[in-house]
Amino acid sequence: MGLRYDEVTDHAIELLKEVRSKDFPELVNAKIKVLFDLKKRKSGGQVVLARIIKTNDLIRHLTRDGADYHNGYDYIITIDKKCWDNITDLDRVKILRHELRHTFFDIESEDNPYKLLNHSLSDFHEEVELNKDDPRWRERVATLTEDVYEQEKEVRLEKKRNKNRRQ
Ligand SMILES: [Zn+2]
Repeated sequence: MGLRYDEVTDHAIELLKEVRSKDFPELVNAKIKVLFDLKKRKSGGQVVLARIIKTNDLIRHLTRDGADYHNGYDYIITIDKKCWDNITDLDRVKILRHELRHTFFDIESEDNPYKLLNHSLSDFHEEVELNKDDPRWRERVATLTEDVYEQEKEVRLEKKRNKNRRQ
C-alpha cells in the first residue's frame, strides 16, 4: 500500500514562510505542517487544490516530534502534488495565501487560539483584492490540474491497451 501523503519540498516550506511573514503576522507562533496529497480529492464536483485543517488532540500528540514537543502542530495544510508540480510560484503563493486566510487567531481563547474560518464567497475579500489582476485564478489552476490528471489517465490506459495487444 502506498501512503497518501508525502513531505513537501524545501521550496514549498520556504514559500509558506514568506507568505506567513508577509501577510499573516498573527501566525508567527503557529505550528503549521504542509504535506503533499498524492491522491485527487474532489469537493462539489471540483478538484481540491489544497486544504487546511485544525489539528485535534490526537494529531497534536502524534506530531509532537515535528514541531513543538508540548503541543504538536496547530494546523495541517495539504496540497495536491500534481497541481503544485505544474504551476508557477505565483499561483503557489495564491494557494498558500488562500489556505492561511482560513486561519483565525482568537486572542480571547483560553485554551487554543488557533481556529478556522469559512469563506462565503469562493475566496476571501482580502484575496479578491490581492488577486484582482487574475480573479479566476482558482478556476484556471483547477482546470489545469484536472487536465494533468486526465493526461496521466490516458497514458495509463494506452499502456494497458498496448500490453493487451501484445498478449
Ligand atoms: Zn477555501
